[in-house]
Amino acid sequence: MYATGKTKTFEWRVSQLKAILKITTHHEKEIVEALHSDLKKPEYEAFLYEVKTSMKTYPSSAEIVSEPLGVVLVISTWNYPFLLSLEPVIGAIAAGNAVVLKPSEIAPATSSLLLKLLGEYMDTSAVKVVEGAVPETTALLEQKWDKIFYTGNNKVGRIILAAAAKHLTPVVLELGGKCPVVVDSNVNLKVTARRLVAGKFGYNSGQTCVSADYVITTKEYASTLVDALSSELEKFYGKDPVQSNDLSSIINSHHFERLTKLLDDEKVSGKIVLGGQRDKANLKIAPTLVLDAPEDSLILNEEIFGPLLPIITVNKIEDSITLIKAKEKPLAAYLFTNDKKLKKEFIRSVSAGGIAINEIALHILEPTLPFGGVGESGMGSYHGKFSFDAFSHKKSVLQRGFSGDAAARYPPYTPGKLKFL
Ligand code: NAD
Repeated sequence: MYATGKTKTFEWRVSQLKAILKITTHHEKEIVEALHSDLKKPEYEAFLYEVKTSMKTYPSSAEIVSEPLGVVLVISTWNYPFLLSLEPVIGAIAAGNAVVLKPSEIAPATSSLLLKLLGEYMDTSAVKVVEGAVPETTALLEQKWDKIFYTGNNKVGRIILAAAAKHLTPVVLELGGKCPVVVDSNVNLKVTARRLVAGKFGYNSGQTCVSADYVITTKEYASTLVDALSSELEKFYGKDPVQSNDLSSIINSHHFERLTKLLDDEKVSGKIVLGGQRDKANLKIAPTLVLDAPEDSLILNEEIFGPLLPIITVNKIEDSITLIKAKEKPLAAYLFTNDKKLKKEFIRSVSAGGIAINEIALHILEPTLPFGGVGESGMGSYHGKFSFDAFSHKKSVLQRGFSGDAAARYPPYTPGKLKFL
């Protein structure tokens, strides 16, 4: 039912809210009787606090006071190991928390630099770095924290959430997934190809959570797009990209093997239309385009997180939206088009952590926008003011003076008081 889009319409929401209003107005008597049956709640009190709310607005002032949560744990990842460690720490400190940072062991140089520099520059009684891998992180997760902020994959995300649940600790989970890029034929092809190549291969060789994971275009447009992408790739990285100093390497041999397995999948090897070369010694993989890999191939089902770009084709561009909606909600979704109707439909119906139109990943650099996932791509968000909010509790504070104290709200609930409601 939700998938039909019905609950998103203005008309449906209004009709259902009006229905609730009807329930409370047409069935007051039954509601009051049920409350009396369950709680012996006096009729007057039932009206005052559950059924009607008119008497609740006493003269008062209301404010939201942000307070720090306490002692928080930040667990970080390896792909932007400096940025993704310090960014949440900045939010935690800005909101007034004490913080323990656990950087990723997969980027050991950055991890030990963070330990050294934070040790030298920060107040280590309240800002600490703990280095380590799974055993150390597991030990940290056994402690009670006031918030856990985790960046990484969604399998470990589940471990974090389960550990947090033991202490009712709130979490932010910054996860990943497969970010789709829809390319319509109604585009400036050169700019599209350049931004797509930069957004996929230029950001850390595709080892970026908001990088393009796969492209969807029409059958008719696919070869035009492949040609344009190939031409931009040659301009960026030359004829032998694995030799290019402008292309980052893969983080380690484990991830190198993982990526080559995606390429060597027999369902995929015949579908490579550009690239495929690798240099094991230097952990480099050439930017690779894969056209129309079968639906059940690994490359179309696992998060790629590397310089491989599968291109899926559909009969008409609108079919791309159905295809995206059939998958888990991604961290980001992208659309290249000049078509206003298509843009509107994409923004309305694709659920993703964030969306950029005619760009890749730039939305996460805009400080007025929250950055975070939805569903399988995570929960909670940060950046800019949202980082402060992620590490704060919003305390509701209401203040009154002593005047205007209406006796009508206090027992005994004489019949005469009902008329004030
Ligand atoms: P990783 O291997 O560095 O793991 C992340 C952290 O989890 C590390 O600190 C590690 O020590 C810890 N960890 C690993 N296994 C654990 C376990 N069993 N128990 C407790 N802690 C454990 O990084 P990764 O997961 O390979 O990172 C890549 C993933 O992160 C991708 O899915 C990517 O999309 C996602 N990512 C998301 C964002 C974002 O901001 N949403 C940013 C970067 C990466």
